[in-house]
Amino acid sequence: MNHLLEINELEQRFDVSPGFFDRLKIRNGRLRYQKSIVHAVNGVNFQIDRGEVFGLVGESGCGKSTIAKTIIKLYEPVAGQIKIDGEDITSYDYKKMIPVRKIVQMIFQDPYASLNPRIKVLDIITEPMAIGGAALGKAEIREKAMELLRRVGLGKEHVNRYPHQFSGGQRQRIGIARALSVEPELVIADEPVSALDVSIQAQILNLMMDLKDEFGFSYLFITHDLSVVRHISDRIGVMYLGFLVETGPCDDVFLNPRHPYTKALLSAAPSVGEKLHIDPLDIKGEVPTALELPPGCSFQTRCPFAFDRCIQERPRLISRVSDRMEACHLLDN
Ligand code: SF4
Repeated sequence: MNHLLEINELEQRFDVSPGFFDRLKIRNGRLRYQKSIVHAVNGVNFQIDRGEVFGLVGESGCGKSTIAKTIIKLYEPVAGQIKIDGEDITSYDYKKMIPVRKIVQMIFQDPYASLNPRIKVLDIITEPMAIGGAALGKAEIREKAMELLRRVGLGKEHVNRYPHQFSGGQRQRIGIARALSVEPELVIADEPVSALDVSIQAQILNLMMDLKDEFGFSYLFITHDLSVVRHISDRIGVMYLGFLVETGPCDDVFLNPRHPYTKALLSAAPSVGEKLHIDPLDIKGEVPTALELPPGCSFQTRCPFAFDRCIQERPRLISRVSDRMEACHLLDN
């Protein structure tokens, strides 16, 4: 059976070069034209099955959101393959993506920026159904939208209001209703609660999980918040500098992190490291710039266990124990 989502060797880069004259550099006495390329996503592989919640974690800027936007083709991938239910959508254009957007929907971090401020709530929710060519009449589409609004905790009195007339939590409820209006099989949630007040984060998370149980879709859940990811995920992937460095069942990874970066990340989070008694692992320095990836392992400039092979050879994400994968030479020994 096909995976619902399959990502193979996905690469994403962005040209952030300054103006033409600023790119000219003198090197070895010769004038050179130098580009600045951000290596945002580097050979990432993972799969998500039906009904599964896959949490993607890592520090800000590690490429998580770029992967999400590449999957739904807001960015064209530079290399690699994206498959939805076995269908290769990597080279699909806008028109070919229309039916795919009925299968894959996205909930964005900033609910205000992702909602059209000039459209009333009812139209925001019915719009994806109309674009997707739902085989429903106008009255049925309206009825379905009203039911979705009720299901996310809003009512009749809200349908003719504009996004700016709602709180952040309510706007995210509208974003969730809009995503679910086409009955997707996969919902990509990109930091869906991090822009919200702490007091309502739990309400929105509980709503999202209740809806998943009710409708039976899968989540690709992107967050930097380890306690959130532990609460909701079946499996997780840990990212560092655009590379996926460890994957596995959520509880296994939290109780027994195997990659040095995962250990450092978990032990540094007070809500996780102390509770699970993970030995502190201090890492030195800052995350290197994605403009110039270090040779070999992406983590070698900060890893306390780095040895010669780490500088010479990029580790591949491979499985050494059942259900787990890590990209680390140390685990080969
Ligand atoms: Fe550390 Fe080497 Fe493993 Fe990279 S491959 S995480 S540098 S031990």
